[in-house]
Amino acid sequence: MASPIMLVTGGSRGIGAAIVRLAAERGYDVAFNYASRRDEAEKIADEVRAKGQRALVVQADMASEADIVNMFEQTDAELGRLDCMVYNAGIGPSPGRLADADWGELRRVMDVNLLGAHIACREAVKRMSTERGGQGGSIVLMGSRAGYYGAPGRAIVYATSKGGMDALNYGLGKEVAAEGIRVNLVSPGPISTDMNNEQSAPERVKEIPMGRYGKPEEVASAVLFLASSEASFVSSASLMVSGAR
Ligand code: NDP
Repeated sequence: MASPIMLVTGGSRGIGAAIVRLAAERGYDVAFNYASRRDEAEKIADEVRAKGQRALVVQADMASEADIVNMFEQTDAELGRLDCMVYNAGIGPSPGRLADADWGELRRVMDVNLLGAHIACREAVKRMSTERGGQGGSIVLMGSRAGYYGAPGRAIVYATSKGGMDALNYGLGKEVAAEGIRVNLVSPGPISTDMNNEQSAPERVKEIPMGRYGKPEEVASAVLFLASSEASFVSSASLMVSGAR
């Protein structure tokens, strides 16, 4: 039987790389993008192939509609009909207060984290919707507990971009529920990656009731559950993976 196909944005490092690895272990063929770190992406793709699954690596900037559309078209052409799309790519601003924020940086965070997610969801729905000739599918969005806490003094625009992902999850899940598509969101607390870790922000450990940063693999498990048929009646749900934060 053919393997199901998953597309993961931002799969070259951190949480995205853990999602790609676990997807391959669970029998998916995986397409994923990187922004600039081609070498990291190729290493992850080799791991996928070593597990006997197909891998497709695409360079794409999630702030570019043309890049996003091209990423989906390459996936169609080289892997086939998409079953799952995980919008994981995300960036933070340089830490600081909103009163000192720069328009270009605010715009960039919103474009990559939130507007890109809308375009990727559009492309996924076009392919998956039973009303458009598709066979259904599943979308998982990467939110953040910051969307709830607001990240004051540090990264309010990051928090508002992630709060927008909650709204996208609630709205789109309902919009496409009768078209065979489930939409869900994972909301991580601090996870140890290049973006965020115990070394760069040790003070955050005391904000986490479990007293430690999470691991990328702990987020990947939640994503793979929501993507799978084990979650067949779960849609517009938000799953915290945050050590109780
Ligand atoms: P990393 O910085 O470790 O990895 C980011 C990934 O996104 C890389 O694959 C990177 O590619 C890719 N990427 C960056 N910019 C773009 C862009 N413009 N277009 C396309 N891809 C891009 O991040 P994390 O793994 O920590 O975070 C992954 C997701 O999880 C993000 O959405 C983040 O907001 C969210 N999250 C993270 C938390 C944490 O504590 N780490 C907590 C809550 C949510 P490349 O390697 O080429 O740079």
